[in-house]
Amino acid sequence: MSKSGASLKITEIFFSIQGEAQTVGKPTVFVRLTGCPLRCHYCDSEYAFYGGERMSLDDIMAKVMSYGATYVCVTGGEPLAQPEARTLLAQLCENGLQVSLETSGALAIDNIDPRVSVVMDVKTPSSGEMSRNDYDNISLLRAEDQIKFVIGDRQDYEWSLFKVSEYNLAGSVGEVLFSPIYEQLEPSQLVEWILADRAPVRFQMQLHKALWGDKPGR
Ligand code: SF4
Repeated sequence: MSKSGASLKITEIFFSIQGEAQTVGKPTVFVRLTGCPLRCHYCDSEYAFYGGERMSLDDIMAKVMSYGATYVCVTGGEPLAQPEARTLLAQLCENGLQVSLETSGALAIDNIDPRVSVVMDVKTPSSGEMSRNDYDNISLLRAEDQIKFVIGDRQDYEWSLFKVSEYNLAGSVGEVLFSPIYEQLEPSQLVEWILADRAPVRFQMQLHKALWGDKPGR
């Protein structure tokens, strides 16, 4: 255990290429925390719902630092479902790493170390978890943060555009990302919609899926 006794349930820690958002393509250490209170229809990390290994903060830090990388991404599951996630995020920053947090948007993103770049989902209708969106989070997002809509069909797209406008997201967060659901919506279709509407968003595809498909640990 660490001196503070803090520990977290961890599904995996691995070194790969960041597949999404602003640091896409950067070599990154991923810390995948176990557990998530949501059940999105398109979830690609269901293996992180249960199990995992309890690790002390010190052991997590040692493993992360062993890769000698600059970037670290704390993901899940839903990392914020574990109270000690905030301590981990702060400690990663203290160790000089550039830290991002991937979160569902269903749990409060308050009291996160300001050095952390937050990548927050807004759950679309076809996720099946739209009712879990905590819209109070939007006012906590800053220019260094990003917001992501995972889109499965035209209804999701129109709903997402409406939310971008309703909350003036294009003017308030660093990046508004529209991403097609893997193997559900043709990526080129989403691009066509975005271009036709001059939508103030950034299209993204999950680079790791293009490279390795749905393999865990990638
Ligand atoms: S929030 Fe993320 S980890 Fe949780 S069910 Fe949805 S996609 Fe999966």
